[in-house]
Amino acid sequence: MIRERHLFGPGPSNPYPEATRALAEPLLGHLDPEFLRIMDETCDMLRAAWGTDNTRTLPLSATGSAGMEAAFVNTVHPGDVVVVAVNGLFGQRMTDVAARCGAEVVAVEHDWGQPVDVDRVLAAHPSPAIIAAVHAETSTGVRSDIAALGAGKGDALLLTDAVTSIGGIELRADDWGVDIGYAGTQKCLGVAPGLAPFTINDRAFERRVETPRSWYLDLGMLGGYVGEAGVKGGQRTYHHTAPTAMVASLHGGLTRILEEGLEGVWARHQEAGDALQAGLQEMGLELFAAEGSRLPELTTVNVPDGVDSAAVRKELLDRHGIEIGAGAGAYAASVWRIGLMGRNARPDAVLLVLAALKDVLG
Ligand code: PLP
Repeated sequence: MIRERHLFGPGPSNPYPEATRALAEPLLGHLDPEFLRIMDETCDMLRAAWGTDNTRTLPLSATGSAGMEAAFVNTVHPGDVVVVAVNGLFGQRMTDVAARCGAEVVAVEHDWGQPVDVDRVLAAHPSPAIIAAVHAETSTGVRSDIAALGAGKGDALLLTDAVTSIGGIELRADDWGVDIGYAGTQKCLGVAPGLAPFTINDRAFERRVETPRSWYLDLGMLGGYVGEAGVKGGQRTYHHTAPTAMVASLHGGLTRILEEGLEGVWARHQEAGDALQAGLQEMGLELFAAEGSRLPELTTVNVPDGVDSAAVRKELLDRHGIEIGAGAGAYAASVWRIGLMGRNARPDAVLLVLAALKDVLG
C-alpha cells in the first residue's frame, strides 16, 4: 500500500477526484464510439482551457516534453531562425530541442527569477521564423507576458509552453496571438502525468514541415485520428493506440475545472498563492522570483543560510507526507519550490504546508 502524499512540489499535483475516478471506469478501445465521444469532448474542453478555437487541439499521448518536441519538429524547417527566451530550465530545454530540429537558435538569456524581457526578445533578430517562450517557468516560479510577445511578433510564429499555466492562471491563446502551444496534465489541470495538451492554428499548420523527422509526433498524420477528425466528423484512421484511460481521466479533470469555471479556478490559484507567499514572508523567508511576476501556483523560496535543503524536504516527506521540490539547475540546493496546483490550490493546503515548514524549521 502506498501512503498518500501531499504533492506540493512542482508537479505532479494531487489529481482532482473526478480525474482519479475516471481511471477506475471500464477500459475502452481506442476506436470504440464511446471512447471517441470522450476524446472529442476532451478536445472541446481543451479548446476552452487554452482559450482557442483551433481545430487542431488535442491531447498528445506523452508528457509535456513530447509536446515541446511536437511543437518544434512540426514547425522548424532546416536553418530557420528560432528566437528562444531563456529565463529558466524549460527555456533552455527549448533551445536544445529546436537545435536538434535543425533551427538556427538565437537564445535570449535572462537571469533566472526574472520574467522574459519582451523588448529584448523581439529585438533579437529582424525576421525569425519562430519566437518561443515559456509562459510559467516552473524552474523559477515566474510568469511572463505572452500577450506582449504576440502583439510584437510580426510575421513570426509564436510558440508557447503552457505546461504550468493551463488550468491555473489566465491563458488566452487566440487573443494573445499564440500560434503553437503545448502543456501537460500533471500540474494545474489536476490529472496524472502522461498527456500533452497541444494546439496549433491554421497559420502555423500551413507552414508546417510536410514530413517531420518524428513519425509519432507528425501532426499531419495525427489529425486523421484526433483533433481534425473529431471536428470534421471524418473517418477515423488508426495512428497509435491512444492511452484511453488517461484521456478519460483528463476528461474528468477538465469537466471539474469547467464546472467550477476557468475564472473561478484562476482566482482560487491566485488566492492560495497569495496566502502562501504572505505566510512564508511572515515566517521570515525570502521569495526567489521577482516581485510582480510571481506565479501563484508555484512559489520559489530561498533556503535560509545554514539550513540543509535536502534534509528539510526529507523531514517534510517522512513526518508530514508532504512533497516539495528542490530548486532547478544551479539553484538545486538554495531554493525550494512549493506548488499549490489544481485541487491543491486551497486554503487548507496553505495552512498545512506553512505549519509543517514551521515544525521542521523549528
Ligand atoms: N515545460 C515546463 C514549464 C515544465 O514545468 C515541464 C515539466 O515540469 C515541462 C515543460 C516538461 O514536461 P514533462 O516533465 O511532463 O515532460
